[in-house]
Formats: sequence, C-alpha cells, structure tokens
Amino acid sequence: MNEADSSLMAALLEAAGWESAASRDEADLVVVNTCSVREKPEHKVDSLLGELRGLKEQRRGLLIAVTGCMAQRVVGRERPRPLLLRVADILLGTRSFHHIAEAVARVRSGEGPVVIADLAEDPSPLRCTVTTERAPLRAFVPIILGCTNFCSYCIVPYVRGGERSRSVGEISREVKGLVHRGTREVTLLGQNVLAYGRDASNGTTFAGLLRALDKVEGLWRIRFTTCHPRDVSGDLVTAMAELPKVCEHIHLPIQAGTDKLLREMNRGYTTDEYLRIVDELRAGVPGIAITTDMMVGFPGESDQDLESSLGLYERIRFDAAFMFAYSPRPGTQAAQRGDQIPRKARLERLHRLIELQNRITLERNEEQAGSTVEVLVEGPAQKGEGLLAGKTRQNKQVVFSGDAKLAGRPVNVRLTEAHVWGFRGVLSAA
Ligand code: SAH
Ligand code: SF4
Repeated sequence: MNEADSSLMAALLEAAGWESAASRDEADLVVVNTCSVREKPEHKVDSLLGELRGLKEQRRGLLIAVTGCMAQRVVGRERPRPLLLRVADILLGTRSFHHIAEAVARVRSGEGPVVIADLAEDPSPLRCTVTTERAPLRAFVPIILGCTNFCSYCIVPYVRGGERSRSVGEISREVKGLVHRGTREVTLLGQNVLAYGRDASNGTTFAGLLRALDKVEGLWRIRFTTCHPRDVSGDLVTAMAELPKVCEHIHLPIQAGTDKLLREMNRGYTTDEYLRIVDELRAGVPGIAITTDMMVGFPGESDQDLESSLGLYERIRFDAAFMFAYSPRPGTQAAQRGDQIPRKARLERLHRLIELQNRITLERNEEQAGSTVEVLVEGPAQKGEGLLAGKTRQNKQVVFSGDAKLAGRPVNVRLTEAHVWGFRGVLSAA
C-alpha cells in the first residue's frame, strides 16, 4: 500500500514539473512516506529524519515532506513526535497524498509548514487521472482503503481510517489505463480486499470485481492482497477457480495458531475454521499457493501456545510467510496489557518460527522442482550476469538465463533447483 501511495505522489510531482533526483544529496525535496505498523520502521524514519535535519542545516531551501501513518499519528491525538515536527515542512496523512504538489507549492510561496491529514478525504479517484507515459509491468491498484477490524495489536484502523471501497467503474478505468500504458499484471490492494463493497451497499462484492477485471483485454494476471480469513466465501473460491487471469495464490494471514491467542487478538476465527478454509481453497483451486503472516510474542503467549502454533503451521504447510515479533503499538488494546513478553524472548521465538517456516517453504518448493510453469519475465536478475528473473502464477521467484528481450513476456520455464527464495530454472520450449 505504501508503494502505491508513493507512486501516486511521484506521479503527481512529475505532473507538476518535478524530476526524480539521483540521490538524497541532490534533491530539493525529500518525501519520506512512513509506516507505523511496527516500531522498527518508525525508528528508521526517526534516524533518517535526524540525518535530513543535518542536511537541511547545510542546504537552505531543502524541503522535507513526511507522509503516511506517522504524519497521521502526529496530527491525531497521539503523543507528538517533536523531531518529526521540527524537521518536516509538510505533513500529509494517510488520505492526503494527493495534496503533495499543492503543499509543496504553498511552502515554497512562503506560507510556512503545511499540515493536511483529513481521514474523511479520498485520494483514490485521482489515480485514474495521473498518467505517466509508461506504467510498470506489474502495478498496484488500491481497491479499498482503511480497516475497521480492530485486531487488538494493530494500529492500522487508527491511522488509516474506516473502510472505503472504490467503485468498480473507477477501478476498471484505472486498470484499463495501466494496461494501455504497458501493465500486464495488477495486484489489487486493501487491508482486507475481501471486505470490498461492504461499505458501498450497492451489491458489489470482491468476487464480482474479479469477474469484471478478468474481462479487461491485454491484462494477463490478476493478484490481490491481503485477505482476512473470516471473509473467504464459496463465491471467492469459485471465482478464483473459474477466472483465467486470477492467479493461483492467496495471502491469508493467520497471525497465531491457538484459539486463545486468536480470540485475544480479536481475529474473528478459530483454528478449525482456518483449517476448513485452507481445505476448501486447496480443493477448489488446484495448485493454489497459500502464504500468510504470523506473529509471535503476543502478550500472554505461553511456551505451550508457541508449541501449539508451530504444530499448526507444520500441519498447514504454508508456501511462504511474513513473520513478525509482536511490537506494542501505542493506543492499541494489546499494548495496555500487563503480560508483555520481554523483547529478547520475542526475538528468540521469531527465530524458531523462521527456522521452521524456511524448512517448510523449501520442502514445498522442492515438491515443485522438475515441473514446467509460466513465468512472467520482469527483467535482469539482481545478481548474476545474463540471468533473468520473473514470477510464477503462484508468485514464486524464478531465475534463469535468457535474452534480455524476453522482459515483459510470459515464458515457460522448467524449475530445476528449489531454494527458500524460489527457483533456478531453464527456458523450456513446451
Ligand atoms: N490487514 C492485514 C494486515 C496488515 S498489517 C491482515 O489483517 O492480515 C501486516 C502484518 O503486520 C499483519 O498481518 C501482522 O502480522 C503484522 N502486524 C500488525 N501489527 C503488528 C504488531 N503490532 N506487531 C507485530 N506485527 C504486527
Ligand atoms: Fe490490522 Fe486486523 Fe485490520 Fe489487518 S484486519 S489491518 S491486522 S486491524
């Protein structure tokens, strides 16, 4: 979501005549788009702002904009972050990104610091009108903003506001525009894309949106993230199975593996319900990859809870996972509990989780080695001369040697070597 927000701001600034600088040291304007979901990214921003303050003292006229969650938090009722307020000339909240060019112009005209952070706003209609010349091969398209789930550990509902779905017409228009300019794969974005349409009460559902987008000519692949398990429906499974452009992959955050933890996290499903959903998806969508988010060290998590969770993950065998140590977020319910797990123990648990999941990820990938799959070629691999990289429909990374001219095309690749990060492969004629 932050990437999508950043690219919107970049496009708007370009339209206003700005060019991207080669480095921070050459820039006249630095935009720091922030995330508050865990403590660590906030600390990184604080230290970056410290550096920028130094730069600003050397270079009068350098403008700093801080945007997104941290800006929203400062403007909200939460504890102010003095450094942020001292360094930033512009603060834009999570629904105010579209004001970036106007805010910069106002500061430059001598108005002083500009702060815009109104959660009642909606920047998304503008996304259809910004048209950079070329669009990326794989593009992000936000379809629903905000979240109203209030999981007990999570800051998102406070900083990103309530759910707000964009219309099918507006999303289709944006997707068609992207495809016209070169995009072949879209990832539909939302804190919970499965809640799409719920706030609009016009009969639209997420599966309905998938059906509409599947018809867009020139689009090859449709992905989406992320999905709240509670909202997986039979209709979604059918749509995923039937629609040729919808990829065989679902990101389905489980968070924890015991009913006690799931209840205390306010997740709204039990382990049995989660297992049933996994069975339904695997039966209904052959070859589906299921990935997840997992968190360890939630307040009150006992050693036994951890063992039970790890046992459940061993049983489910996720294709991959984003894994986190719980991070107390100010203002959330869980942060107020007296039974916080010490940081060191949280990190030890995280290491155990990562070790387990890495083994499972490798085993899952090994099961696929030898098969030939469609890979959408993104371009040269990050490492290795003459190597190309791309993703399978299951969203797994594949590296293989081939002509750079294949970039942007779908090719068949035989998977020869499985790794935790994906596969090495060879181009196949079949
Ligand atoms: N809407 C998504 C999650 C968005 S946040 C969902 O419900 O699945 C992305 C991930 O960050 C979450 O899935 C969770 O695993 C992690 N996360 C959120 N709050 C966290 C916290 N306080 N500490 C550690 N991880 C957290
Ligand atoms: Fe946070 Fe829960 Fe909403 Fe996801 S569903 S953004 S974890 S409150």
